[in-house]
Amino acid sequence: MSQSSPQHFIVIGNPIAHSKSPEIHQQFAKQAQLQIRYNRQYCPDDAASFIDVVEAFFNGGGVGANVTVPFKQVAYQLCAERGQLSTHAQVAGAVNTLMLKEGKIYGDNTDGQGLVNHLLSLGWPLQGAKVAILGAGGASRGVALPLIEAGIKQLTIANRTVEKAQALVQQLGTASPIIDSIQPTYCALEQLEGDFDIIINATSIGLSGDMLPLKDSLNCHYAYDMMYGRELPFLTHFSDKGAEVSPGYGMLIGQAALSFKLWTGTSVDLNALNEAQ
Ligand code: NAP
Repeated sequence: MSQSSPQHFIVIGNPIAHSKSPEIHQQFAKQAQLQIRYNRQYCPDDAASFIDVVEAFFNGGGVGANVTVPFKQVAYQLCAERGQLSTHAQVAGAVNTLMLKEGKIYGDNTDGQGLVNHLLSLGWPLQGAKVAILGAGGASRGVALPLIEAGIKQLTIANRTVEKAQALVQQLGTASPIIDSIQPTYCALEQLEGDFDIIINATSIGLSGDMLPLKDSLNCHYAYDMMYGRELPFLTHFSDKGAEVSPGYGMLIGQAALSFKLWTGTSVDLNALNEAQ
């Protein structure tokens, strides 16, 4: 398909230089035979600057924006006050994808479905699974509802600050009728024990290279760390116990593919792309 001028996309963050999104989306565009511009957009770390950047981008004809640390919650607020939100963004309280819909700014969150799609592509069974998510920050909030929609039967949220895990479980309970199908539970990270099908590390501990304070009696068949691109003690720990493990690069690709589909209407064939990791 030919175009007169490339569609324009950005990823807004602080810091932003490390973002892999431009390369990932250019690969998608190549496959879709679209010409796009996709730039990293640095933004000062305050809500007013973020809103200025978003307004200038869309007023200038921009088609879609990804939002990353630390602006996902600010983007949620912006859409909640002045625009529209997808159900996934509402439940997550965070937005990673922006576009215009009927002249209004629209926010979605593709992180969770990106994770679910990666788990399914790995062949990890979600239907009826007993799942624990470690962490109760933005990433954990983003994946809880899509995992429930994918058919898991038990969900436990374990967090260092147990009050945040409790708050997330309470928010899930009020957010969507589908939550009625399961009753999520919560606990402190170091209290989590027993056998799970899948344990997902959604804490940011991987950034430090440290290990989480987990009980020896905690076991799983599959362990997933949302971090990628470095040695991850969480994955080594469960791999040594016999679990199948995966880092989170496929989730990154998956959420990007869903953003690309929202913006361009084109589905990416992820199998045809070279996995960078
Ligand atoms: P966040 O909102 O800052 O939440 C951080 C979470 O990690 C909190 O639950 C926090 O617990 C916990 N934590 C931090 N340090 C800890 C420690 N030393 N011990 C135990 N728990 C600790 O961050 P986020 O946005 O949820 O992101 C979490 C991770 O997911 C990051 O590494 C991020 O890069 C990754 N991520 C990956 C993808 C992907 O596409 N692969 C997408 C989104 C996020 P407290 O509540 O007690 O502070």
